[in-house]
Amino acid sequence: MSPHLVFIIFLFVLGTCVGSFLNVVIYRLPRGMSLWWPPSRCPRCEKPLAWYDNVPVLGWIMLGGRCRYCRKPISPQYPIIEAVTGILFAFYYAMFFVLHLGPCLGASPLLLFAHDPSNRAGLWPLYGLDMVLIAGLLAASVIDVEYYVIPASIPWWIAAAAVVVHGWVDRPWTMGTLTAAPAAMSLAAGAAVGLAISIALLFLKIIPLSFPDGDLLEGERRELEQKARQAQESGRSVPEIPPELTPAQVRAEMRKEMLFLFAPVILGGASLLLYTYVPAVARFWLHGWRHYWLSGCLGSLLGAMVGGLVVWLARILGSYGFGREAMGLGDVHLMFGIGAVLGAGAATVAFFIAPFFGLAIAIYMLLTAARRQLPYGPYLSLATAFVMLFYCPIAGYLRPGIQGLMYFVRQIVGAS
Ligand SMILES: [Zn+2]
Repeated sequence: MSPHLVFIIFLFVLGTCVGSFLNVVIYRLPRGMSLWWPPSRCPRCEKPLAWYDNVPVLGWIMLGGRCRYCRKPISPQYPIIEAVTGILFAFYYAMFFVLHLGPCLGASPLLLFAHDPSNRAGLWPLYGLDMVLIAGLLAASVIDVEYYVIPASIPWWIAAAAVVVHGWVDRPWTMGTLTAAPAAMSLAAGAAVGLAISIALLFLKIIPLSFPDGDLLEGERRELEQKARQAQESGRSVPEIPPELTPAQVRAEMRKEMLFLFAPVILGGASLLLYTYVPAVARFWLHGWRHYWLSGCLGSLLGAMVGGLVVWLARILGSYGFGREAMGLGDVHLMFGIGAVLGAGAATVAFFIAPFFGLAIAIYMLLTAARRQLPYGPYLSLATAFVMLFYCPIAGYLRPGIQGLMYFVRQIVGAS
């Protein structure tokens, strides 16, 4: 048997087990329940499941889709999530290691010293990190479709894993590296300090939290109102719907969010200016760059902050322009996690191609007459899954234009 086939089967099985955990995340996280306790049980009769009923996909099939004890049907969503996760793990293995898509060597001049580029064994940590992202996006998307929220803990755990992995494996000459150049390190460090300050001020309630009563996008409100009506008719508990705000109120909430962005943007910019104009600072970061764990960590952090900022700017501009919320804060968090794993460039590309996936799904829904407003999280996730494979050719295509733009910017900065 070919070694690839062994890995594909193993990763499929591993993926179904991860999918089993995602089912727990999808069910418990929005309900505020612990992920680790109690062990899985039937949601209807609350009897704990035996380990053999818990085997991914097969357990559900053996039970005929019904609980062993109360015989009530178990949603087919459980085995579907497990199977889909397994297929994704196997699919990305085949793409990365057989078809050689996915992370690539960049355009760094250090590539002259690169090891044999056909040796992809070094890709395993990045493959593992990318599968953490894929699994997290799958769970976040399902929760977003069902509840119109993305629990922030999902992208924040992904970002934490990404900073550790990129700090650990990234070298300027490895595939999929995010190691930042000295100037970018300086920018990232300043912005990260600003972000920490803003988060601290938010916790100390010096910066106000926007939308303190919760928020909903336009279509989400209609969906939730419908759900509430159904719940009322059947006598179930009615979900709480946050109050609708006037355009002036929405703009006031946006000003609170701009206040949050103030410190990271100003400190990031200031740090970059110091790098540009103070030789001692530039020397400091040139020295720091040689500590690859630091340039890897900061490259990942920069990706997270750029990804989050791109969505946040779109949210603020859109909400200011239309007087109603244009994109959820959950999407900002989600893109923070995506950027930490894939880097600033890939996250930005994913954000701009996400509308195309939205359009494709809208057409599909029109054809199947499934009239239902979808939140933005799933589109961002689909775009990310695509970019994870095809960022390298896209970046190669965009590079001349971006280099021209950078040259233009440098001319302006240099002239002033
Ligand atoms: Zn049961």
